[in-house]
Amino acid sequence: MLSDPGEMTRIVKKAALYMGASAVGICKLDRRWIYSHRFDPRSLDHSAIDNIPDGFESAIVMLHEMDYTLMRTAPAYGENAATGRGYSTMAYVAASVAHFIRDLGYEAIPCGNDTALSIPMAVDAGLGELGRHGLLITPRFGPRVRISKVFTNLALVPDKPIEIGVREMCGVCGKCAKACPGQAISVDKPTMQGLTISNNHGIYKWYINPEKCFQFYVALRDPF
Ligand code: SF4
Repeated sequence: MLSDPGEMTRIVKKAALYMGASAVGICKLDRRWIYSHRFDPRSLDHSAIDNIPDGFESAIVMLHEMDYTLMRTAPAYGENAATGRGYSTMAYVAASVAHFIRDLGYEAIPCGNDTALSIPMAVDAGLGELGRHGLLITPRFGPRVRISKVFTNLALVPDKPIEIGVREMCGVCGKCAKACPGQAISVDKPTMQGLTISNNHGIYKWYINPEKCFQFYVALRDPF
């Protein structure tokens, strides 16, 4: 069984790109980002979720580029095609990378939007910075990505967070906040306190209003 972390990191990253990831980074698995509870919208109950087992200390975080031309059609349905393809790619690539790691003799758990928050993991893995609009901004694709991740007990060498000037630019820009039709993006300075129950309070950042975003999105998709 291969075990050199540097060599294994090189191999796993190469495999992720071969499987179809647009970019890949590694971070230590920070358990603050893992979902602790599941919410049932029918019963309004919260139930605890089983933890990721001990020994899973690495996360492989992958970006999946969405088509530029189709994303420009948002909020028309062309954008839906790019988003749907992004979700399908996430599922295929994350499952394939997890399978590859299991074939090497280690354990691996693939996930998409489920199981843990993707954006802080992508930030930890050096794939981009958080923007005012609540999305990851990447050096190569901007915010036009979906994110998947694979948790593993294979020892890997983590990447470092990067600074590409997003915080500075968002501090003086604010165009997305002015243009947002749902008025869900903050026009104010970053804070530690979120706006609604859906925010993950206690982190210094721009908080979006997820309820406003979702209400606008639902009304748009189902105007009748
Ligand atoms: S503030 Fe400007 S740079 Fe930052 S996410 Fe919004 S539009 Fe993009």
